[in-house]
Amino acid sequence: MLVSKTKCGEWISLTEVQNQEKLKEIRRKEIFFCPECSEQVILKIGTKRISHFAHKVGSVCADSYERESEYHLRGKILLYKWLDSLGLKPSLEPYYQEISQRPDISFVYEGVQYAIEYQCSVIPEELFMKRTNNYYQANIVPIWIMSGKNIKRKGSHKAALSSFDYLFLSKSPSEQWRIPAFCPITNTLISLHSILPVTVKNVITNYSMIPIEKAQLADLLNPSWKQLARLIEWQNEMKKQKDMSPLYGGQQNKFLQDLYNHSLIPSLLPPEIGLPVSNAPFIETSVLKWQCYLLMDVFHHQRSFSMKEAIHAFRKRVQKGDIKIRNLPLVKEGNGIAAVNEYIQLLVQVNYLKMLNQNYFQLARKQYAENYSNQEKMAKDFYQEYGKLICNHLNKVQ
Ligand SMILES: [Zn+2]
Repeated sequence: MLVSKTKCGEWISLTEVQNQEKLKEIRRKEIFFCPECSEQVILKIGTKRISHFAHKVGSVCADSYERESEYHLRGKILLYKWLDSLGLKPSLEPYYQEISQRPDISFVYEGVQYAIEYQCSVIPEELFMKRTNNYYQANIVPIWIMSGKNIKRKGSHKAALSSFDYLFLSKSPSEQWRIPAFCPITNTLISLHSILPVTVKNVITNYSMIPIEKAQLADLLNPSWKQLARLIEWQNEMKKQKDMSPLYGGQQNKFLQDLYNHSLIPSLLPPEIGLPVSNAPFIETSVLKWQCYLLMDVFHHQRSFSMKEAIHAFRKRVQKGDIKIRNLPLVKEGNGIAAVNEYIQLLVQVNYLKMLNQNYFQLARKQYAENYSNQEKMAKDFYQEYGKLICNHLNKVQ
């Protein structure tokens, strides 16, 4: 940590005193205490490392639970200086007694209190949730910023997100999915945005990088990007999954068995199964899989069905554990059901389902490809005809 209290209750912040000689002089005269637990802490003055306060070995303070890395300390200082340069008068490591929490930085903007948690190490999901909820209850808006080095970039428009990374996912006021990150080595504010989950871990995403000295507060609080739905990447990923899925376990794979029992072959699935919807992050199970379950449980029978029935079928799969729902602590509205709703609406728009009346739907075309080249052509034609519509749909909802 960078802030402590002296014996007479004065605050000392290491961003203000950086001269090492001066720090050594202060250290000779003063004793320092943790603002959180009041234990005595040690001032570590570094020549190569950043000077900081540390708890003694064996401390039980919540603060000492997470060893702060050099990377984290550096990032915290840079973010603090950035907010300070914007004239926001930020506080470094303020301690909120009522919730016993100390974010890295806090500031007030337009009457709203914000707390920045620049989280570089992995913490248990429960702790992340608890801290987040405590902030909300204390009327503080938390901004969780991921460490830049933890971004697992897999290509110019791809990333892998762990379940921990997903906790950072939020919606910008313009309704775009995003994860903010900061890298103190390149001094860049990074945003993963317009995120489309493909598998449990892999996503298609856009990256925005802004050097911190050029960044505005809006880039953190209210970012807005021109939506670029990556349908080409999406098509490729779906094709890959449909082709590859049989390779992942035959007999043991319950999902594949389910498909074969319905006379469905993964590589010949219609292009309408595996469509991007903006509410997809609420579902942990891959898009292809949960949409396949709807095909098997609902569309495939060719009977008319209501939205309620489709949602019921989805819920049953959730109960059975075939479909997993994701916890998104920073997102207040939306859920897996919204994704199902959206998907069915989209299927009506691409004429896969027809709407009989307000609440009833029926499969409009049941055609499965006979062979692989036939399937490829179907997919190509489908995206040629409906690609733009799918993009518009995503933009409108997202
Ligand atoms: Zn402490």
